Amino acid sequence: MKLLDGKVVSGVLLERVKQDIDAYINQKHLGYDLSRPSIAIVMVGHNAASESYVRGKVKACDKADINHKIIRFEEDISTFELISEVKKLNKSHFDGFIVQLPLPAHIESKPIINEISAYKDIDGFHPLNFGKMALGHKSMRPATAYGILKLLQYYDIPTNSQHVVVIGRSNIVGKPISIMLGNDFEVGRSTVTSCDVHTPRELLIEESKKADIVIVAVGQPGFLSADMIKEGAVVIDVGINRLESGKLVGDCDFDSVSKKAGYLTPVPGGVGPMTIAGLILNTFEAWKMKNLIEE
Ligand code: NAP
Repeated sequence: MKLLDGKVVSGVLLERVKQDIDAYINQKHLGYDLSRPSIAIVMVGHNAASESYVRGKVKACDKADINHKIIRFEEDISTFELISEVKKLNKSHFDGFIVQLPLPAHIESKPIINEISAYKDIDGFHPLNFGKMALGHKSMRPATAYGILKLLQYYDIPTNSQHVVVIGRSNIVGKPISIMLGNDFEVGRSTVTSCDVHTPRELLIEESKKADIVIVAVGQPGFLSADMIKEGAVVIDVGINRLESGKLVGDCDFDSVSKKAGYLTPVPGGVGPMTIAGLILNTFEAWKMKNLIEE
């Protein structure tokens, strides 16, 4: 079994983005001086997991030489106030920004996300970007799904004509990765089965046992066990679950799955760093769009 090392691949991609930005800046696009990309990260309250994710995002920005600013609001900010802050950011000099989720329980995330300008939506969650992604048009893409595609591509894992089973159908992970792998692109052209909580357990196991690639994103430790995959399958474990002991684990029973899978992402160090790479790639895209850079 080979581990798919998201840390290494993310490092390679961040370095590539940095070099590409340098190259555009040095050649003075359209005769103008370009400034480096800059992003804002909006944080509400002091969620411990969010603090750690944001530290990872800041480190990645530093590696890619992207300017960043953390904008903090207290836990008791209202939905209305947060929407007006988002509106200000839409008009700001930042090339892109994110509102770090989860938000406190009294704030509904959907109206906040929909308020973010599609041109600055580096998480790739806005309905317009989701629609473009689904149609296979150029867009900012949901960052985790984008990162998974890049990981498969880096390790030359074929997707064309492969049977992929995606377990979990959230708007930010399961649904976009199902759509992207079903699209007619070099990394894509898969036959995708999408499962969620309504999929009968026997059917889910029957499908996952036949799959060449299993992507699991349900948020339940130990959900995917070795008896649910075929020998040599590629397993992408998106889950991040903190056990009572404090240990971070994914959705796979790592000990058993690692003995049967051909490839497996570790948790931590698999999909997590690739999500951040997806965010940085989206930032690069937003910066190119703003500066009218066509490829
Ligand atoms: P989510 O919004 O809670 O969605 C979970 C999905 O799993 C839902 O579609 C749910 O179906 C489905 N599900 C739940 N129980 C199931 C079962 N028994 N059988 C089949 N499907 C089932 O979670 P998410 O945001 O997609 O995140 C999933 C996990 O990935 C979490 O652990 C999260 O922390 C992690 N995550 C990791 C990264 C990363 O960068 N590594 C990024 C994002 C998320 P219903 O909707 O029908 O209930």
